[in-house]
Amino acid sequence: MATLCSSYAWDDTSIGCPDDWPAGLRAAAALVLAAPTPMVLLWGEDATQIYNDSYRLLMGAKHPTVFGAPVKSSWPEGWHLDWKQYTRAWAGESVLVEDAVVSVGRAGDSSDATFTLGYSPARDEYGVIQGVLVTAFETSTLAAAQRQARSAIRAKADFLAVMSHELRTPLNAIGGYAELLQLGVRGPITPEQRGDLERIQAGQQQLLGVIDDVLAYTKLEAGILHFAVEDVVLDELLTECCALVAHDARQKKLELRRSGSVTGLAVRADAEKVQQVILSLLSNAIKFTDPGGVITISCQEERGERIDIGVTDTGRGIALSDLECVFQPFVQVDGKLTRDQDGTGLGLAISRQMAQRMGGDLTVASEVGSGSSFTLTLACGRRMHRPLE
Ligand code: ADP
Repeated sequence: MATLCSSYAWDDTSIGCPDDWPAGLRAAAALVLAAPTPMVLLWGEDATQIYNDSYRLLMGAKHPTVFGAPVKSSWPEGWHLDWKQYTRAWAGESVLVEDAVVSVGRAGDSSDATFTLGYSPARDEYGVIQGVLVTAFETSTLAAAQRQARSAIRAKADFLAVMSHELRTPLNAIGGYAELLQLGVRGPITPEQRGDLERIQAGQQQLLGVIDDVLAYTKLEAGILHFAVEDVVLDELLTECCALVAHDARQKKLELRRSGSVTGLAVRADAEKVQQVILSLLSNAIKFTDPGGVITISCQEERGERIDIGVTDTGRGIALSDLECVFQPFVQVDGKLTRDQDGTGLGLAISRQMAQRMGGDLTVASEVGSGSSFTLTLACGRRMHRPLE
């Protein structure tokens, strides 16, 4: 292109002969011609095109007629770049456009490819904008890989939705028949048989939980889990969460406490998802705290902007080196086959993703032997005032 540029009949163009070019244009043209990445310089009011060898590959049959010619007359069918971004750059802005689909004429035919395009003002030696420099970085392969990955994740979510339905039906039957036997519908049962039936039901519930977790995580990953964000009153929600875990806590001889005033406090969130996150934190706290321990649910408003909901226990705690990985999917700190607690290792991964999808976060502080404190942070909702009674 450098050869073409030096032998080109510039006299017939609006920018004239190179000997008369302003220093700014000469410097910009030299920079473009020497650059290894695709670049085009559009100089002057009519956007006369000077491009390099890499950019030429994108021009196909347009080359060489459009070299040194104004954009408008060379692209009567419409310029393959974006005129709006060109105008912004001409007005002094540096514009970056990702995933721009550009028609290119690489193999003779024109086809679409994806690029990251940079439009920046090109100035003369006095600092006055006289043109626009466009740099093009092709991302077609990356975009195709991303499209493929997205559709694979989607296919996985669809497959798991079908699988979960297929698994749920026999599992529900197992639970249902176990219950019938427990109720004595098929005749009296011995205490040993009752114990066995309880274990069958516990196993059935556990499997249903695993299916729910895997499905929820896959949906979150595929971005197809719907969030209905509204003002959620915390008082009722936390009371319900406590009621739901009270039996398990009692059975394990754990004290369940509430701290901090929540009267009228509301968060902007999806009520069902917040409840799911808090229940998951409470169930972990119960699981990992020995009898005699205390579990506290606290609530604190921060500068009227956000609300921290804490679930603190006095349990076994988590080592500093494991603190971040507990939020990774399928991670259990005690991952040995002999571990004493069941679970999929998905609860916290799901909970953090849900919190983040609602514009909040889930964090943890812990000390081995002293306990753990998980904090769900969410944006403040509109305060709810109780009517005077
Ligand atoms: P799981 O369903 O296996 O409990 P989670 O994602 O909920 O999966 O938790 C991951 C791991 O984090 C747990 O297996 C446990 O090792 C650790 N963990 C979670 N909550 C607590 C807690 N309150 N105290 C101690 N360890 C915890």
